[in-house]
Amino acid sequence: MDTVKFEDLGLDTRILRAITEMGFEEPSPIQAKAIPEVMSGRDVIGQAQTGTGKTAAFGIPLLQKIDPKNRKLQAIVLCPTRELAIQVADEIRRLCKFMHGIKVLPVYGGQDISIQIRSLKGGVQLVIGTPGRVMDHLRRHTLKFDELHTIVLDEADEMLNMGFREDIETILKDAPQERQTILFSATMPQPILDITRNYQKDAVMVRVVKKELTVKNIDQYYYEVKQKNKEEVLSRLIDMYNPKLSLVFCNTKKRVDELTEALKGRGYFAEGLHGDLKQSQRDRVMKGFRTGKTEILIATDVAARGIDVDDVEAVFNYDLPQDDEFYVHRIGRTGRAGRVGKAFTFVVGREVYKLKDIQRYCKTKIYAQPVPSLNDVTAIRLEKVMEEIEEIIKNEDLRSMMRVIERQINEEDYTAMDIAAAFLKKYMGEFEQNTLPKREDDFGDTGAEEGMVRLFINIGKKQKVRPGDILGAVAGESGIPGKLVGTIDMYDKYTFVEVPRENAADVLRAMKNTKIKGKSINVEPANGRM
Ligand code: ADP
Ligand code: MG
Repeated sequence: MDTVKFEDLGLDTRILRAITEMGFEEPSPIQAKAIPEVMSGRDVIGQAQTGTGKTAAFGIPLLQKIDPKNRKLQAIVLCPTRELAIQVADEIRRLCKFMHGIKVLPVYGGQDISIQIRSLKGGVQLVIGTPGRVMDHLRRHTLKFDELHTIVLDEADEMLNMGFREDIETILKDAPQERQTILFSATMPQPILDITRNYQKDAVMVRVVKKELTVKNIDQYYYEVKQKNKEEVLSRLIDMYNPKLSLVFCNTKKRVDELTEALKGRGYFAEGLHGDLKQSQRDRVMKGFRTGKTEILIATDVAARGIDVDDVEAVFNYDLPQDDEFYVHRIGRTGRAGRVGKAFTFVVGREVYKLKDIQRYCKTKIYAQPVPSLNDVTAIRLEKVMEEIEEIIKNEDLRSMMRVIERQINEEDYTAMDIAAAFLKKYMGEFEQNTLPKREDDFGDTGAEEGMVRLFINIGKKQKVRPGDILGAVAGESGIPGKLVGTIDMYDKYTFVEVPRENAADVLRAMKNTKIKGKSINVEPANGRM
C-alpha cells in the first residue's frame, strides 16, 4: 500500500501543526480514505473498528469547514455517551489548538443544563452532544439550526443500540436540507443502512477492509468450560496471570451484575458497567478503572464501547460474543500502544464451532488451552513473582536491606537461602490462602467413602439439630439433590456429613454464610483419618 501523508491531504497548516504536536505520524487507513471524501463536501458513510482514529477522520475536515467569524452553530456531532462526547470534544479541541475563534462544546445529559445554555449563548460553532440532550436544547431553542451545514453521527450503531433512533431521526429531520451528513459506525447492520438511505444523499462509503481489522499484538487463547465453572476458571486465570487491569465481557446486563457480585465476593476489586447505570455511577466506575482502584471491569459490549483506557492487559470473553466483529472490538482493548495483550475466550459446548468462524473472519489463531489446575496457577504465579524479584534486584538499591539480612545471618544460625526461601513461602502462602478457591480435587483424604468428601459442621445434637436439618441445609443451600448427600454422623457439638467430591467445593461455598436452626455455622473439610 502506498502510504498517504497528512501533508498530501491539502490540510490547513494550523491543523498540520496540531497533528504534529499530537504525535500523529501518518493518517490511519480510515483517515486516509475518509478525509478527502469528507473534504469534498459529499455525504460519507465510514466504517472502521474502534480505535482507528475516526474522530480525526471527520474532525479535521469539519474544522476546515467552520467559519470562525460566524458565531452561530455550524456543525453538530452526535455521540452515544457522555464519555464519548467529552473524548471527541477533547480530540477536536486539540486539533484546532492553533486556530482562533472556533468554539467547541460538548453537551450531554447529567450536566446542569443551565451551564450548557450559558456556554451556548457565548456563541459555539461546533457542538458535540448526546442525542437526548441535543433534543432538549432544540426544544428550548438554545440550539438553532439556521446556519448548520454539517451533521456527524459518530458510533451510529451504538446510538441505535442505546435507543436513540427516534431522537436522531428528529434531529436529522429538523436540520436544513442543504447540509453534509457524515455517519461513522463500527458495524453496518440494516437499521444503519436505513438511516443512510433516508437521510443522506448519494453517500460514498469508505471502509477499512476486513484484512486491516485483524488483531495484532494479542495472544489469544480459548478454554472449553462448563457454564457453571466459568466463574472458577476466570478466577484462576486472573490469579495466574495477575493482570493489572482486565476487561471482562458478558453478553447481558444481568450477567454483568451477577459476575460482578461473585467476583467481589471472592475478594477481587471488580466493578460492573452497563447501560442501566446512572451517568454518575458510570463515571465513578470508569474513574476507578482508570486509576487502577478497580482492577477488573465487567461490561457489556454496549457499555464498553468507547472506553479509552490504554493499558488493559487482558480481555476475557466470559461469554462468547454474538457477533464476529464484536470479538475484534472486544479484544482490541488490549495490546495497545505497542504492548502485547492477552485475550481469553470461554466456550461452552457447541460454541467451539462459532469460534472457528471468528478465527476465519479475523484471520487469526486462537489457541486452545487446558483449564488451569491449581498447580498451574501456583507455577505461573511463582514465575511472575520471580520476574518481579529479578526486576528489583536489577533496578533497585538493596544495600540497606542486605544489611538487615546480614545481621540475621550473623546473629542466628541461618543461611541467606533459608531466609529467601522463608520469604517466598510467606509470599506465596498468603497468595494461596487469600485468593485460591477450593476445588474438587484439593480436599485430600477427609476420611470419607470413595468419591465423597467428609465435611465438618460445628453444630450438633446439643443444639437440637437433627440429621434432617443438616440434609435440608446442605441440599437446599447448594442445590445438589438430597439423595447425593451421604452419611451424616451427629455428635453432641458437631456433625460430619459426606457429599460427592465433585460437589464439595460448591457445597462449601454455598454453606459459608448460612444458618441452621437460626445458628450461624462453620463448615470445613474434615481432617481425615487419624
Ligand atoms: P475511534 O473513534 O475510531 O474509536 P479515536 O478517534 O478515538 O478512534 O482514536 C483513537 C486514538 O488514536 C486516539 O487516542 C487518537 O488520538 C489516536 N489517533 C488518531 N489518529 C491517529 C494517527 N493518525 N496516528 C496516531 N494516533 C492517532
Ligand atoms: Mg470514536
